[in-house]
This record gives sequence, C-alpha cells and structure tokens, in this order.
Amino acid sequence: KRLNNNFQFLDVGRQDPAKKAIDVRKAEFVEIYQPFNEEEVQDQSHRCLECGNPYCEWKCPVHNFIPNWLKLISEGNITEAAELSHQTNSLPEVCGRVCPQDRLCEGACTLNDGFGAVTIGNAEKYITDTAFAMGWRPDMSKVVWTDKKVAVIGAGPAGLGCADVLVRNGVKPVVFDKYPEIGGLLTFGIPEFKLEKSVMTRRREIFQDMGVEFRLNTEVGTDITMEQLLEEYDAVFMGMGTYTYMKGGFPGEDLPGVHDALPFLVSNVNRNLGFEKDPADFISVKGQRVVVLGGGDTAMDCNRTSIRQGAASVTCAYRRDQENMPGSRREVQNAGEEGVEFLFNRQPVGIVGDGKVEGVKVVTTQLGEPDERGRRRPEPIAGSEEILPADVVLIAFGFRPSPEPWFETNGVKLTDWQTVIAPEKQEFKFQTTNPKVFAGGDMVRGSDLVVTAIWEGREAAEGILDYLDV
Ligand code: FAD
Ligand code: SF4
Repeated sequence: KRLNNNFQFLDVGRQDPAKKAIDVRKAEFVEIYQPFNEEEVQDQSHRCLECGNPYCEWKCPVHNFIPNWLKLISEGNITEAAELSHQTNSLPEVCGRVCPQDRLCEGACTLNDGFGAVTIGNAEKYITDTAFAMGWRPDMSKVVWTDKKVAVIGAGPAGLGCADVLVRNGVKPVVFDKYPEIGGLLTFGIPEFKLEKSVMTRRREIFQDMGVEFRLNTEVGTDITMEQLLEEYDAVFMGMGTYTYMKGGFPGEDLPGVHDALPFLVSNVNRNLGFEKDPADFISVKGQRVVVLGGGDTAMDCNRTSIRQGAASVTCAYRRDQENMPGSRREVQNAGEEGVEFLFNRQPVGIVGDGKVEGVKVVTTQLGEPDERGRRRPEPIAGSEEILPADVVLIAFGFRPSPEPWFETNGVKLTDWQTVIAPEKQEFKFQTTNPKVFAGGDMVRGSDLVVTAIWEGREAAEGILDYLDV
C-alpha cells in the first residue's frame, strides 16, 4: 500500500524520532533522540517526492544520493542503502546525527515549503546503524592493493574521509593522532547527547578491518616529525583542525571562573570516557550560575553540558537575534527545552568581578547594515549596559587556525588568515605548496562543519590518487 502511494506526503506528516523525557535528558550524557523503528523510517522515507534534479543532493556538501537511498529504505533494502550511502559519505551515521540539516539537505527539500521536509538526517543515521547491527560491513573484496602508503595527520572527519577513500582504492593510510581515540572534535568536542562515543569506537574497528592503521597518542612534530613522514610515505594528508580560541578582547577575560569552551567540553568528555589524567583538569559548574557567550554549535554544547552538570542556572547571551544564530536551529530548540535562558541582542563588553567572576557586562544591540558575509552587524544601543550575574563564564566565540612552525619549514604555505593553502581547483585537488602534501577540513577552510571536513578529506584523497597515479 505504502509503495503505491505517490502522495504519501499528503497523508503522512513529517515526524522526527521521539526525544527522551526532559528530566532524563537534563541528567544524562546520552543521545536524546530515540531511533526510528522500521515502520516509522519507511513511512517517513516514502514521503520523498523523488525530485528529478534533487535540491537536497545539491545542498548536501558530500552530494549524497538522498532520494535513491530513501527509496531503498522504503522498500526495506537496508544493505543496498548502506552501500549507496557509503559511496559518497565516510561517516553517514555521524552526519545523520550532527549535520545542521535545517540549513543543508532538509532546508532544501521541496517539501520544506509547507508540508515539512523529509527527515533525511535521521533516515541516514538509521541506514548505517541498522546495517551495522545486521552485520553489514564495507565490501573490500574487489580492492586491488598497490604498494603505496600515505600518512594522514589527524583522525578527525577530514582525516577519516581521506583514509576511507584511499583504502578503498588500495592505498594504505596510516593515521596519526595525538588523542587516544579517533574522531577529532567528534570525540573530543561534540558532547555525547549529540553523538555517543560508541559510534566512533565502532567506526574505528570498521576502518581497521578495512585496512586503515591508526597510530593514536602520537603527535606529529613531537613524537614523530613531518620530515620522517615525508621520507617514509608516498604522500602526506594534513587534517589537523583549528584550535586557537577566539577571544572577546574585553576586560576581565583572565578572571578565575572564565573558561574557553573547548577545555570545558573536553574535560567533561575525558571524565565521562575515563581519559582524565588529573582530576584538577575537570571544570565543574555544579551549583553555579553559568553565562555562556556565543550563539553557535559550541555555545549550545556548553549550555547543555552545564545543564547536565547541575548548574544553578544557564544563560546564553548572543549579540544578534535568534534568526541570525549561526548554529543548528534544532540544537537551539533542544537547549531551550532543557532550561537554557537565551538573551538575544546582547553583546558582552566586559567581565566584572573582584578576584573572581561576578558578572558579565553586556550592552543591548540592534541589527544594522549587512557585513561582507551578508550578516547584519550588531550595533550597540547607547546607555543599555547591564550586568548579568555569573559565577562561571564560558566563552564560545569560535576558533582560528593553529599552524605549527614545521608547516612553513616543510614548504606548506599559509594564507593571510593562517589557513593552509590547498585549493580545490587545480591539477591535484587540495595539494598544498609542497607537492607531496595535501590538506583539508577546518585547517584549510576555517572552522566549519563535520560534513564539509569529510568532503574535503575525500576530495583530497582523489587528488592524492591522481598524484600517485594509481
Ligand atoms: P578536527 O575534528 O579538529 O580533527 C583534527 C584532528 O587532528 C584532531 O583529532 C587532533 O587531535 C589532530 N591533530 C592536530 N594536530 C595534530 C598533530 N600535530 N599530530 C597528531 N594529530 C594532530 N559541526 C557540525 O557539523 N555539527 C555540529 O553539531 C558541530 N558541533 C560542534 C561542537 C563543538 C564543541 C565544536 C568545537 C565543533 C563543532 N562542529 C560541528 C564543527 C566540527 O566538529 C568541525 O568542523 C570538524 O570536526 C572539523 O574536522 P577536521 O577533521 O578538520 O578537524
Ligand atoms: Fe543531510 Fe548532512 Fe546527510 Fe548531507 S550528510 S544528507 S547534509 S545530514
């Protein structure tokens, strides 16, 4: 009956998977969405109109074959859907969980205009989770192995995307990461309520079975040098992310009780995963009044981690309005549901306190003319200063590149913004100014998204395969 109904979208509305109860969500570091069951995912997938030239595919940075795998799901063919989904994406189960779908595939869905977009992200997550549970694994039987090997620096989405494409083409990737687990910010950044860490552990085992070798707890530049990698490998891929924390540049940022977002989030993950080296590294906000500054994904993760740690209150101050927030709308809504108070149009101008944080001084803003990126500039309103009381302030203003001195000494040049020069459009895609070195992800495009990092890693692998002539 379902398969014959071309107008399913008229009979069946968009339905997201159920969320766990709020009191459970506020206390636990586990994913908040229940998985779809088979009937639900088939009903939702069959809402797809199978547009001839699908906008969703175009807007998805890895150009997933979305209508095709939605059709396979609605027919109950999960194995083939998994094969197809892995042709374009190295971590589909991760993207299904963390992509800001409202700005990407689902935002572009034809049905988004009144009927409610197809729940593409949750369908994508369902395919891989179900296929893995059924025992499906990537088919490596037709791979013809070459004698080439490539060093990949960084086991984040860019490095993993690169390694995936290389190994499927018979080139051995050896992935170096300074952390004890793969994933980069997927593991040491994004909290468990968006992405449980068992997802990455399972992925590591699958990549290892495919032939990817991981050398974890190994920092390039300290435990092994770039010169050694260039000597021992046929090519090198760099996917090292961006780790310089942006500052507000206002007084009081050094007061005790003020923390950058990432150390706060990482200390929480390390405690939950048992990676904590020293209990003094843990940043606790239990019983404290927390003010989070920023409006992106990192700020939302700080808000919701603070709630789960048992903060007395969590207030998020953002300098533009809700409409102009840079992160995923879904996560803003989830944060609001969990008890975060949002103060829009508030720009911090200082952190006040005598020997420790006591409050954040903010001014109210109004939106002015668009800046060079088309976003309207927040302009302070004279005389609108107020103090938000706070015991802890978490600064989530984003990240700038963090180049190492050994980039330049190995001929890897930087832009004026300190990102690595590795253009997509050239003979060998994502090649740096050292012909043997390729790069992708946040360190090339500036801090962005998981899916764009995966895409650049995969494209860079294509560039490496062309360069190695395999
Ligand atoms: P990274 O993920 O940063 O990985 C780089 C890896 O390189 C790390 O594992 C690091 O240890 C390793 N490395 C660096 N230097 C060395 C060295 N010298 N030797 C060995 N290893 C090294 N994006 C989304 O799409 N959705 C979200 O919900 C989302 N939430 C986010 C939440 C937070 C808190 C943060 C910080 C970011 C979030 N992002 C989100 C952005 C996303 O995580 C990044 O854009 C993405 O991870 C970038 O991938 P990457 O591979 O370029 O770098
Ligand atoms: Fe949508 Fe992201 Fe999946 Fe692409 S990778 S289909 S943008 S959830």
